[in-house]
Amino acid sequence: MRGSPVTREVGRTTRDLRRHNRTSVLTRLYLHGPASRFDLMKATGLSSATVSNVVTGLVADGLVAEAGLLDSDGGRPRTLLEVRPGYAQVVGVDIGETHVQVGLFDWTLDTVATATYPMDEGRPDPGVLAELVRAGIEEVTAKAGADPAALLGVGVGVPGAVLPDGLVHAPTLGWADVPFDALLRPHVPAPLHLDNCARTLGQAEMWRGAGRGAERAIVGLLAVGVGAAVATGSPGGVTSTTSEWGHTVVEAGGALCRCGSHGCLEAYVGADAILERYGRLAGLPEPAAPGRELPEDAGAASGRPSGRGADTEARLAALVADAALPGPAADTVRATAEYLGIGIANLINLLGPDRVILSGWVSAAMGPAMLPAVRDAARRHTLDYLAERTVLELGRLGPEQVALGAATLPVHELLTAGGR
Ligand SMILES: [Zn+2]
Repeated sequence: MRGSPVTREVGRTTRDLRRHNRTSVLTRLYLHGPASRFDLMKATGLSSATVSNVVTGLVADGLVAEAGLLDSDGGRPRTLLEVRPGYAQVVGVDIGETHVQVGLFDWTLDTVATATYPMDEGRPDPGVLAELVRAGIEEVTAKAGADPAALLGVGVGVPGAVLPDGLVHAPTLGWADVPFDALLRPHVPAPLHLDNCARTLGQAEMWRGAGRGAERAIVGLLAVGVGAAVATGSPGGVTSTTSEWGHTVVEAGGALCRCGSHGCLEAYVGADAILERYGRLAGLPEPAAPGRELPEDAGAASGRPSGRGADTEARLAALVADAALPGPAADTVRATAEYLGIGIANLINLLGPDRVILSGWVSAAMGPAMLPAVRDAARRHTLDYLAERTVLELGRLGPEQVALGAATLPVHELLTAGGR
């Protein structure tokens, strides 16, 4: 029997309210770890009866489990609750400029298995990449003995902008208006989520990495391309938006950028730009430093190796090792740190974050050697009162950070839906 419009409306409102309450409790447990029913009441503002009801439902659904007892001063010990890692698994895919990495994670983002495929072409074919994603999902689920059809979802991070219709603009891949969402969908056995990898990495740093507890964090992704996410944390979760930080200008009339402009940050601190500078300072022969290619400079199409892939990562690692002693490598690290510091100072002056986090594979490779000089440069170019309240540090998510960031996409949807 169908109810009246009024009772249908009430039914919908009740459902919305129930979902909202489940989202509040689940997100609190997911982001901040074990808590008692009493803690959850305080954190969410829900009544004791509502929290009890919601917890009972979440436990029955397998999302949450009891995690021992907590002594409370004088009173009855309180039962702690936590999210259950075994509830579901997710896949995160890093479509990088140098490699494709597919990671299988439990839904609390602990790594279960990974598969990495180096990319040697400067401009990868989107269809070939979609095939690689399918192979990667098969490989990681087979390694872990997991059923691909049971995955909660597959998140894919791309180094570019994802438009609402699923078209991807990724200058570092040479992609303009590529219908990557439609190309991927037939290859993916679970709900597909596609987004910019700087945004998802920012979300992951806020959830599980160096951004935890920050009010407003800027997470810079340093790779061949350079991007940044602006992430705002609140007790209810994290919102993050992407920005084209790499194409903000740090030197008027400066180096030519692949976007066609001059003096962009990416033309100084992107991986290719760093290697090009090193090649110039060290007087290396041209092929050792292929540098940035403009779309019309069809390196791959002309059959010339693009120098991408594992080679780029290996050469950057060698540069960092050489930089321990004075010389061209150390000079390159110093110059990179100065430009990066200027780029960071611009962000701080503009947005006043409490934390800036440097992430991405270039940051993982160069960060430890470069961080003191980056901090120094950022400080010199930032207004004192802003510099004093901003912490600058390296990301803490480990080698599969971008894949892990992509894996936050299906999890975010689960949390938003109240775990259903
Ligand atoms: Zn640019």
